[in-house]
Amino acid sequence: MKVLIVGGGLAGICLGHHLEDEGCDITIIDKGENFSSAIAAGMINPMVFRRMLKTWRGDEVIPYLVDFYAKTEKKIGGKFFFPRKIKRYFSTEEETNLWEMRTKDSSYSNYISSEKEEPQSFIHNTFGVGTVFSPGYVDATLFMRLNHRYFKDKKYLITASFDYNELNTNALTYKNERFDKIVFAEGYSGVDNPFFNYLPLNQTKGEVLKVTIPNYPNKDIINRKCFILPTEDGTYRVGATFAWKNINTKPTEEGKQTLLEQYNKLCVLPLSIIEHEAGIRPTVSDRRPLIGEHQTHKGLFIFNGLGTKGYMLGPYFAHHFTQHLLHNTELDDEVNISRFL
Ligand SMILES: Cc1cc2nc3c(=O)[nH]c(=O)nc-3n(C[C@H](O)[C@H](O)[C@H](O)COP(=O)(O)OP(=O)(O)OC[C@H]3O[C@@H](n4cnc5c(N)ncnc54)[C@H](O)[C@@H]3O)c2cc1C
Repeated sequence: MKVLIVGGGLAGICLGHHLEDEGCDITIIDKGENFSSAIAAGMINPMVFRRMLKTWRGDEVIPYLVDFYAKTEKKIGGKFFFPRKIKRYFSTEEETNLWEMRTKDSSYSNYISSEKEEPQSFIHNTFGVGTVFSPGYVDATLFMRLNHRYFKDKKYLITASFDYNELNTNALTYKNERFDKIVFAEGYSGVDNPFFNYLPLNQTKGEVLKVTIPNYPNKDIINRKCFILPTEDGTYRVGATFAWKNINTKPTEEGKQTLLEQYNKLCVLPLSIIEHEAGIRPTVSDRRPLIGEHQTHKGLFIFNGLGTKGYMLGPYFAHHFTQHLLHNTELDDEVNISRFL
């Protein structure tokens, strides 16, 4: 089967690997500007801290992503997935109590530790701390660079902007080349897609800092209001903000100050900023991915809406979507775009 994927971010890459492994003839067109997959922190957090609940579909997506990233590292040659634990410092007494309740629930035993823990001395602490067994984080910049190199070497990846005027939806051709399926995986730019712009895809801006923190004592990710992620290269990511207005890819002074304020309330160690980046997440009002075929333009599909947790959801739902594309399996109702008809 010949498939054109528009967008070579995380969604397009995950889909590209699954289709390639199934023997498809793939072409990925990417305009070479990435302000989401390439700047993400790449954390895999099995918990939603706001309500101290397990993340949606964690039991299925987490084992799948662990396997996928390990297999992909071997396939493309390189290491981008690294183990890390997350230490959650609680914000309120209510959070501490909720956490304790979850530790007594056996369905959480794979995700959180029931051990009582001593807070670390470099963290401001009032309400205590708990450990989340995250499988780790993806070095997102490296992931993108290695995958683009892999698909470029195979001549599957073209760096160009997709030109909608060159698409013939009846013949399913692009620049006169015929495809069996065309999948739009354009991330936040998908809001301008003329075929799928009826879907409630939103843009959520996020800013992150790359910093040095001399004397940070271990490799645990620390979280409360913001996160501190110790990366493999010895630097740290501090993030991330959320903004729904004035959406663009420019870092702002306000974003920086918000992160520094949150950091200073969390950690006593001084930091130095190396880099300040901004990006845009492709979010959906019901926080579920957008997958499926256009209602009237048959052969046109969307794979988008990975939201704030793309590195967690992307691999599993790329597999799910591939099974649908190639073997006609039913799409999960929760991700199928038919829910918005
Ligand atoms: C600050 C920040 C922090 C984040 N942290 C995390 C985290 O810790 N953990 C986590 O799991 N997720 C995180 N995310 C979310 C994650 O990054 C996204 O869910 C994911 O990157 C979305 O991937 P995507 O491929 O759908 O979109 P994108 O990465 O935006 O990729 C879309 C691609 O399509 C291309 N494109 C678009 N339109 C066209 C066109 N017309 N022609 C050609 N090419 C086109 C673009 O060039 C781009 O490369 C974070 C996001 C941000 C912004």
